[in-house]
Amino acid sequence: MKKIIAVLLVICMLFVLNACGGDNESTSTGEITEVTTIPTDSTVNATDGSEDNTQGIAEITTGEEYTESTESAVTMPFTTTPPIIETSHTHRYSAATCTEPAKCSCGETNGSALGHNFVKGVCLNCNLKAKTQQITITTENWEQYFEVKIINNAKKNSFGDYGTPQDFSIAFKLFLKEKYIEKLASIDVSIELSYDDYVESYTYDSSTGNYTLTGEQSYFAEKRTFICNFTDNDNNYYDGCYFSGGCWGGGDETTGYITRYAKNITSTRATGTITLMSD
Ligand SMILES: [Zn+2]
Ligand SMILES: [Zn+2]
Repeated sequence: MKKIIAVLLVICMLFVLNACGGDNESTSTGEITEVTTIPTDSTVNATDGSEDNTQGIAEITTGEEYTESTESAVTMPFTTTPPIIETSHTHRYSAATCTEPAKCSCGETNGSALGHNFVKGVCLNCNLKAKTQQITITTENWEQYFEVKIINNAKKNSFGDYGTPQDFSIAFKLFLKEKYIEKLASIDVSIELSYDDYVESYTYDSSTGNYTLTGEQSYFAEKRTFICNFTDNDNNYYDGCYFSGGCWGGGDETTGYITRYAKNITSTRATGTITLMSD
């Protein structure tokens, strides 16, 4: 029994010696307390929530301290961040112009610039004169700018159909080509045309008002000339300058002869200029 008591004593002494030795963080009670310093930043983060990303990253690196700070935050007085006061501003846009979009005094723009609307070489919105080029029309180049079109003047009669061949007519007209009408600033041109006057048979469809030339020519008429004038004061360049045509049908209701049919059209004289807006 004495031997057992002696052994217990030795064990007790060893324990006390070990407990007193070396560890700074141990208290006299032998209870280990972790001393942590809660950084101010962490406390702020806890109340701030997720607003500050860089501090959030710092918290991860502080490890245990983050857990401690969360508990501390509960005891901190709750303060709210004052709301950011935005001064209200309603955009007031000036009207858009040819070259500028609608604009507010703050610099904000709305939409895009209108772009110029040139008609006959002048912008309808701002009166800017378009850049133009002038072309002299000659007997050599007239076909580059003008073209002959055959116009079918068939119109429905009061019964709602196209009737007999006598009710329709065709016309041969000289036009300024459409791509140049779009660019036209001004025009003052006279072109003399020379052409062969044919008589040619046709078939006529009174249900559609369309005719088809058959190629059968009954005789040649004499050679003709006609002068077409194009000026700013008329719409000949748009409506066309009538120089030949017409249909006085013979035969029955579905066949006839076109008694003026221009062929081999050439220009014998040409003078004047067209002024076109540049691209
Ligand atoms: Zn504004
Ligand atoms: Zn303009």
